[in-house]
Amino acid sequence: MRVIDDWLNKEISQNAMAILQDRYFLKDADGNYIENTWDEVAKRVARHVASAEINFSQDVKEIQKAETIFYKLIRSRIFIPNSPTLFNAGKTIDKQFFNKAIEDMTIDDYKQIFNLRTKHNMLSACFVVPMEDSLASIFDAVKNAALIMKYGGGVGYDFSVLRPKGSSIAGTGGKSSGPVSFMHVFNVAASTIEQGGSRRAAQMAVLRYDHPDVFEFINSKKDNKGNNVLNYFNISINIDNPSTFKRLIENDEELLLKHPDSKIQKKVKARELIDKMAENAWKTGDPGVLFLGRHNEYYAMSEYTPVTATNPCGEEPLPPFGSCNLGSLDISKLVEKIDLGNPTSSTGEEFKEIVYWAVRFLDDVVEANVFPLKEIEEITRRQRFVGLGIMGLADALYKKEIPYNSEDGRKFMAKVTAQLAYYSHLASTGLAKERGNFPDFEKSKYPNGFIPFAMLDDQIDKDIKIWNDKIREHFYGEAKQYKRNVQTNTVAPTGSISNLADTSSGIEPNFLLSYIRYMTNKEGERVPLTYINPVLIEKVGALITDEIKEEIVKKGSIQHIKSIPDDIKKIFVTAVDISPEDHLLAQHVIQSYLDASCSKTINMPNTATIDDVKSMYLKALDLNVKGLTIYRDGSLETQVLTTTSEN
Ligand code: UDP
Repeated sequence: MRVIDDWLNKEISQNAMAILQDRYFLKDADGNYIENTWDEVAKRVARHVASAEINFSQDVKEIQKAETIFYKLIRSRIFIPNSPTLFNAGKTIDKQFFNKAIEDMTIDDYKQIFNLRTKHNMLSACFVVPMEDSLASIFDAVKNAALIMKYGGGVGYDFSVLRPKGSSIAGTGGKSSGPVSFMHVFNVAASTIEQGGSRRAAQMAVLRYDHPDVFEFINSKKDNKGNNVLNYFNISINIDNPSTFKRLIENDEELLLKHPDSKIQKKVKARELIDKMAENAWKTGDPGVLFLGRHNEYYAMSEYTPVTATNPCGEEPLPPFGSCNLGSLDISKLVEKIDLGNPTSSTGEEFKEIVYWAVRFLDDVVEANVFPLKEIEEITRRQRFVGLGIMGLADALYKKEIPYNSEDGRKFMAKVTAQLAYYSHLASTGLAKERGNFPDFEKSKYPNGFIPFAMLDDQIDKDIKIWNDKIREHFYGEAKQYKRNVQTNTVAPTGSISNLADTSSGIEPNFLLSYIRYMTNKEGERVPLTYINPVLIEKVGALITDEIKEEIVKKGSIQHIKSIPDDIKKIFVTAVDISPEDHLLAQHVIQSYLDASCSKTINMPNTATIDDVKSMYLKALDLNVKGLTIYRDGSLETQVLTTTSEN
């Protein structure tokens, strides 16, 4: 794989190194580093995950080959697994196993690594924890979530099952305090847990749009300034069926708020609900919207184990006790050698191979994983969720000189995602032939011929039609017999791992082309590091005088700089240069080929109105999107990325 060899020994940036030191290098009990390089991390993770191959092969050469490819994928930073895998693979297992040269590894060594795994080797980022409408069950969920968050997993919950505030409680004769009151309990619990010893806990709360407490839920974060109210939660309203909801709005009809275990019922105009959601999202970014009905439509096991919530960032819908491990390919590195998205290019074979090994890695993670609860282990092994996604989309578009907010940009996004979906499903089917189907396969929709995503219209582009035809042939052909994983694709935010890869995050446009990040040096002093997007420097470095550099650092964008030609400005757009409609359309085309979901924020300018937010909701009801997250620039005091001065 040529492209991997090219990237194998490229130096990582100071920024990436600082993050590794801060969070990823293993330390001993006294806090001394046991690891000092990315190479050591790549070796540890590759070896630990490859040890799961002993469940399928006793041929040491075969396992060494898998380990070598996993190592190269990670070492080159073309593929990076989700943070919990980086944090926890190999952790607490004797270091001697990881110092050994690969050619000296024996079957027995791999077996020992596999058998030495403990609860500290939890490798997944995404979980959904259920609760029933009883105090015992709610507090069981608090405990279950704590165990997950401790090792770096994010947790989502469906609070719709809890009866509304004021409902009678048979056992005590009292009144229920409702879902929102319990969310505060989860929030406090999360606030005391540092995930994986390295980061804040993250949670998602979901409530159905027709739950009687829906307004209280929508308002639950309205006073949040970013770091105070329910700050360990993202909140999302589940509009289960977008077309029914759209009809209610268009006809200005009422909807009945109700709960099966309560006498409390209210009627409200659907319009009032959407107005309130828009107002609060305009103010603080919360709530988001989820269309879980759409998720279930494209989920092959929805008749048995429907999804009820998503992980904290919304990209992974899961059934109760579901879990998923993620990994992302940096397409900005790949586009240098591979003609991504082109269905007739010979370089596609190389991408196919990379995707195969990435899916095999993630499938091995299901095997190597030590799950925090037996219920989670059971459903995860029965369905084998994995989420291979992409990062570096924005930088890839810069390199290809295609504007993110253009028809060509969207075609590129659609083709790349279609290619990823197609190859990863081929990989999952190939693995099923060697290792067996996911145990629930016969009950799933696949044996009847089922395509787990919406796809775009054939007419849009001749290449899109070619990908659609290949996808149809696969799902109406061999996928009816063989599938190793119920789902294979998820696009994560890649908030940390994209920094490790020195690339743009997930499918988002770059938020800023330049910024100053403060790092602490060895002497403990805070030193400013000026970051300028490397592709911008590579493409137009000659144009960038010190004076222009200063301007870019100040504003984060190049749109207002007179001396930069218009054709360059069109390509190097940032999140705030892109209209909300273009953000939404990017999400629409990408989501058309994802069996799970994606993390995407619809950035809106500070000047956007509440009606602008509402119009995004209404547009989303008609597209292939599975949810919506809005963020109006500057609306939270703790916004993570800002330029150094006011725009
Ligand atoms: N996540 C989490 N806490 C965090 C960041 C992420 O629990 O601080 C979980 C969450 O489920 C999220 C998923 O990890 O949806 C993937 O997030 P991201 O891609 O940003 O994580 P990374 O692997 O880059 O750390």
